[in-house]
Amino acid sequence: IKEFGIKNEPILQYLKGSKERQELEQALKCTADCIEEVPIIIGDKEYKTKEVKYQVMPHNHKKKIAKFYYADQGLLQKAITVAIEAQKEWDQTPISERLKIWEKAASLMAGEYRQMLNAATMLGQSKTVVQAEIDSSAELIDFFRINAFFLKEATKYHPISENPKVTLNSMRYRGFDGFVAAISPFNFTAIGGNLSYTPALIGNAVLWKPSDTALLSNWNIFKICREAGVPPGVVNFVPAEGPVFGDTITASPYLAGINFTGSVPTFSRLWKQVGDHMGKYINFPRLIGEVGGKNYHFIHCSADVKSVVNGTIRAAFEYCGQKCSACSRMYIPESLWPEIKEGLLKARECLKIGDPMDFDTFTSAVIDAKAFARIKKYIDHAKSSSTLKILGGGRCDDTCGYFVEPTIIETKDPKDKLMTEEIFGPVLTIYVYKDSDVDNTMRLLDKSTPFALTGAVFAQDEKFLKHALEALKMTAGNFYVNDKSTGSVVGQQPFGGARMSGTNDKAGGPHYVLRWGNPQAIKETF
Ligand code: GLU
Repeated sequence: IKEFGIKNEPILQYLKGSKERQELEQALKCTADCIEEVPIIIGDKEYKTKEVKYQVMPHNHKKKIAKFYYADQGLLQKAITVAIEAQKEWDQTPISERLKIWEKAASLMAGEYRQMLNAATMLGQSKTVVQAEIDSSAELIDFFRINAFFLKEATKYHPISENPKVTLNSMRYRGFDGFVAAISPFNFTAIGGNLSYTPALIGNAVLWKPSDTALLSNWNIFKICREAGVPPGVVNFVPAEGPVFGDTITASPYLAGINFTGSVPTFSRLWKQVGDHMGKYINFPRLIGEVGGKNYHFIHCSADVKSVVNGTIRAAFEYCGQKCSACSRMYIPESLWPEIKEGLLKARECLKIGDPMDFDTFTSAVIDAKAFARIKKYIDHAKSSSTLKILGGGRCDDTCGYFVEPTIIETKDPKDKLMTEEIFGPVLTIYVYKDSDVDNTMRLLDKSTPFALTGAVFAQDEKFLKHALEALKMTAGNFYVNDKSTGSVVGQQPFGGARMSGTNDKAGGPHYVLRWGNPQAIKETF
């Protein structure tokens, strides 16, 4: 895409004294000093209900930053009606006009609202400045610009017309006859923007249920898009209790699609509900989801130890292991283990854990009490098991914030639940294999979890790499060679998992926006 003049948004550095640092500090102060009241938005109307909720800072959970409301079933029904009505006009808006709105939204995000988005992500989701800049600036802006670019490119396709004076064939992209529901996660502000606004870009109207724990950053996206010109009713901002939202949308005959990122059980439940209601829909709802992962680093005896250590520390512990792509299991050959172990433990010692407002912090708190309890349970399991050994970390403290130390565990049992279940926290489990057992270990890796999101192989031996690419081909929708399992970039590494990690529709890839379209092939005869 570079040759078309489309570039990824550059990452800013926030050096001391820089303009962006001053602006960010100001935005952090503003965000921390107040509790923003966020209404439900349906069409051009604001609603408040009796179900009042608060978003708190995970690293300082007494401190509230947003007050919001849950939409009840009645309001969700209203949102469906409003969305369907709004879609009719929106779908007739020329694509060129929609592209202009997306470009405007991207430039507002890149310009005057960049630090407002970063501040809400840092304080509301406890991301460090580096992680916030990657997410709520670069990736979010890229989703808006690059999906618009992919849609524009797709409209250039003209089917063959052998004699256009007699018959002319064409294709046009429309939205669905119905509405799309977007259910977005806490861990990437950018994913909230992508799940809700990309289906809208191609002509749909959307009910967006943001995550309670990413409420403020998602609300900021909504406000910016309205300012950029997305008309009322095209995206409706409806925080709600998960099951109430799921039950209401799946019971509507007009449900045309669900764009989901979250847990396996929730996605499975939605899928099942859609099945139960089959027969009353006017479309086959399109279900697109990115769910679980148990991502790995597989190390070969020819690997470069330094890049293994650097890559693993980042993949396992940046943002507390709460990226869907985070590395949480590792396979290391006996011959390299002493050197890698020393490197990992030394590097772990130096990680600064704390307040994301401190620009030197490497990682902060996990998202909420539920996450804290879940991760702690896995660490307690390691403490009480004879086949597991905590090599570093293991401390959990939720007195002020939900802090879990980056934790490294060695296991003698490659099938232990720490090696097979998704933890979604800063816990890395390592299995050391005999060098001669490399093939069996890859087979074991392949079969030990239902997931296939991301994976990385570190090796310098070209022959082995070729072999590993084939042996591990089913284990990861995003596969890395000599690089960490995290950090996919929109337009560069389209992102999505296979097997039980999701429908593998590749967010940030050329086909993603088209998956939300309802293309019509037209033959005109003269
Ligand atoms: N794109 C992100 C990465 O590769 C992960 C996205 C996610 O967590 O869903 O790090």
